[in-house]
Amino acid sequence: GCGICIHKCPFDAIMIIGLPEALKEPTHRYGPNGFALYGLPVPQVGRVTGILGPNGIGKSTAVQILSGTLVPNFSQDTGNWEKVLEHYAGTALYDYFSDVVDGNITVSQKPQYVDLIPKAFKGKTSELLDKTDEKGALPELVERLNLSHVLDRKITELSGGELQRVAIAACAAKDADFYFFDEISPYLDIHQRINSAQLIQEIAKDKAVLVVEHDLAILDMLADVVHVAYGEPGAYGVVTHPKGVRVAINQYLKGYLPEENVRIRTDAIKFEVHPPRVETDINTLVDYDAFSKKYGEGFSLSTDDGSLKEGEVLGIVGPNGIGKSTFVKILAGEIEPDEGKLDIDIKIAYKPQYIKADTPIPVQYFLRGISNKFDSSYFQSEIAKPLNIEKFYERLVTDLSGGELQRVAIAACLMQDADMYILDEPSAHLDVEQRSMATKVIKRFAENNRKTAMVVDHDIYMIDMLSERLIVFEGEPAVYGKAHKPSSMQDGMNKFLANLDITFRRDEDTSRPRVNKPDSRLDREQKAKGEYYYHD
Ligand code: ADP
Ligand code: ADP
Ligand code: MG
Repeated sequence: GCGICIHKCPFDAIMIIGLPEALKEPTHRYGPNGFALYGLPVPQVGRVTGILGPNGIGKSTAVQILSGTLVPNFSQDTGNWEKVLEHYAGTALYDYFSDVVDGNITVSQKPQYVDLIPKAFKGKTSELLDKTDEKGALPELVERLNLSHVLDRKITELSGGELQRVAIAACAAKDADFYFFDEISPYLDIHQRINSAQLIQEIAKDKAVLVVEHDLAILDMLADVVHVAYGEPGAYGVVTHPKGVRVAINQYLKGYLPEENVRIRTDAIKFEVHPPRVETDINTLVDYDAFSKKYGEGFSLSTDDGSLKEGEVLGIVGPNGIGKSTFVKILAGEIEPDEGKLDIDIKIAYKPQYIKADTPIPVQYFLRGISNKFDSSYFQSEIAKPLNIEKFYERLVTDLSGGELQRVAIAACLMQDADMYILDEPSAHLDVEQRSMATKVIKRFAENNRKTAMVVDHDIYMIDMLSERLIVFEGEPAVYGKAHKPSSMQDGMNKFLANLDITFRRDEDTSRPRVNKPDSRLDREQKAKGEYYYHD
C-alpha cells in the first residue's frame, strides 16, 4: 500500500482517499457485509449516458435497479419503492423511478460477454434476431451492421465480431424505453465500433441509453455525459454525478476527481503529442522476406518484406478479417506460408487472439508449467503484481472470467524465454484500468529486456501508448489482405486512418487523441494536409 489511503489497494497504483461525505449511505447493499453501491447513473431520454470505471464495481447492480428488477434497500434489510421515491424526491431520478413503479419502463440490454450467447442459444442467427424485431427495424439493422451473410449461419459458428454485432442488433431491435449496452467494442474493429456507436446515438434521440465502454476513444465520441465509477471491485463502488464526457475522461486519466475530492490513482495516464523518433542505430533482430498465404479458394494474404529491431514495440493495425492473425501465426511458426520461405531463426512467444482454458488446473500450476521464472522476483514484481493476477493463483483457469484469463495469458506469454513476443488483442475483456496496466507491463518488459514485441489491437489509446512503429494492413476483409513494411507511427497512422476516413485531434489538457467530427473544420483541414493523427 501507499500509506495514504484508508482502503486496501487492489493494485499498488490505485488508492481511494475515503468516501466523499455525501456518500455515507449506500444506495444498495447485498446483505450485512456484502457489496455496496453508492449513487446511480441517471438515464435520460435524448442522451447517451456513459459509465467509465472498472469491472466489479456495481454496474450490473445499477442497471437491475434502473430496470426495476432490484429494489434498492439503502443498506436496510429490504427495500420498497415508496422509500425509493421519497429518497429521490426533487432529483432527476424521481420521474424516472415513478415510471419504473408505474410499470412504464421496458428495458433492452446487451450483455457484456457475448461469448456466452452460443451456450444459451443453438439455433440460426435469423431465428434469434426475428424474436427481437419489435418495431420492424431489423432489416435496416442487419444491413447497417453488415450481418446479412450470417443470417443463415448457426449462432455457435459465428466469430466474436459477428456475435457482438448480432447482440447489438438484437438489443437495438427491441421496442424499449431504456437501452443498456454493456460494452460494444470487444471483437470489433475501429470501423465497426464507430458504426455501432452512431447507431446507438440514433436510438438515444428519443430514448434513454446507458453504455459501459472501456475503449476511451469510442466512449468519447459516443456518450453525451459520463459517470465515473470507482471503488474496490467486489467490495464497494461509487457512481459519481454525471460529468461532461471530455471532463470525465480527462479527470479519469489524471486520476483525480476534483468535485468529489477523490484520488483514484497515484499516476496520471499520459500521451505523447509527437510520434516517437525512429532510432536507426538499434540492432536488427530479424529481417524477413515477403511471403503469401491463401486459404483454399478463400482469403489470401500477401506481405512486404520487413526488418524488426531489438527492443521495439510494433503496433499492428487493420480491420477484422484482413489477415493480422494469419500474419502473426506465420511469424510464430504456427502455420506455413505458401510462397516465401521464412528463415526466421528466433524464438517467439505468442498469445493468440482467442484464449480458452480447458484443463481445470490452478493458475499457479499452469504458470509454473510454462516457465520456472514463476518464482523469480522479476516476474512477480514486474508482471504478476501490476497485472493483479496474484490474488487468484489458487483458482482454476477454467473458472476465470474473460478479463482474468486475458491477464493470465499475457503473463504466460511474457514469462517465456524468447526473442520476440507477439500479443494478439491483449485489450479484449480488460477494463480501462487493466488496459493501462497491461500497456505499462508490456512496454516496460520490452524496454528493460531489450526484447521485441508486436501487439495487434484496435484500441487506439493502447496502440498510441505502446508502439514505436506500426505494421498497417489494407485490403478487403475476408477476400485479401496486404501487410505493409513496418513504418513510423506518423506514416502508419496516416495510412491506417486515411483508409478509415477518420482524423484525430489532441485534447488540449491531456494530449489524448479525440476523434474529429466528420466534415468539421479540423477534419477537413487535417485531411487536406494529410495529417490524420499527428499534426502541429
Ligand atoms: P459490474 O457489473 O460492475 O461488474 P456487478 O454489479 O455485477 O458489477 O457486481 C458488483 C459486486 O456485487 C460483485 O462483487 C458481485 O459479486 C456482487 N453481487 C452482484 N449480485 C449480487 C447478489 N445478488 N448478491 C450478492 N452479491 C452480489
Ligand atoms: P484478422 O486477424 O485480421 O481478423 P485473420 O487472419 O484471422 O484476420 O483471418 C483473415 C481471413 O481468413 C478471414 O476471412 C478468416 O475467416 C479467414 N481464415 C482464417 N483462418 C482460416 C482457416 N484456417 N481456413 C480458412 N479461412 C481462414
Ligand atoms: Mg485476428
